[in-house]
Amino acid sequence: MKGSCLCESVTFEVDKERLSLYQCHCSLCRKQSGTFSNAATIVSEQSYRITSGEDCISKWKKNTGFSSNFCARCGSPVPNRLQNTEYFWIPAGLLEDVGEMRIESHLFIGSKASWEQASSNAKTHEEFPGIEAHIAFLNSRNQ
Ligand SMILES: [Zn+2]
Ligand SMILES: [Zn+2]
Repeated sequence: MKGSCLCESVTFEVDKERLSLYQCHCSLCRKQSGTFSNAATIVSEQSYRITSGEDCISKWKKNTGFSSNFCARCGSPVPNRLQNTEYFWIPAGLLEDVGEMRIESHLFIGSKASWEQASSNAKTHEEFPGIEAHIAFLNSRNQ
């Protein structure tokens, strides 16, 4: 599966035929995405490869560790290594030719925007279930 930012400077590949997505409704993802949540997936570093535009990526990191990588030319969020892990966060909207892919869980539903409408019947978490449980769940949904 391939992906790219809006201006196509940053391109990447994910060695997966199917991906399970989640939406995070926390206040940080709200700012980062500009809307009520982001939609993303997480893949291991073995499955992820950047194919162009590494020098176009700007990085911003909050002192708590939350980080945002984005294309310096067009502003799209781009894949980002999860702090101190072998996993990459992949923004779903960048992916092309996605086949069957859907939202499987919602995180931080307890801090969603007051103006957000209730959404799907995917699994919901008031906060964060923990990285291991989160990744295991996503993997269990794309077999
Ligand atoms: Zn771009
Ligand atoms: Zn979030």
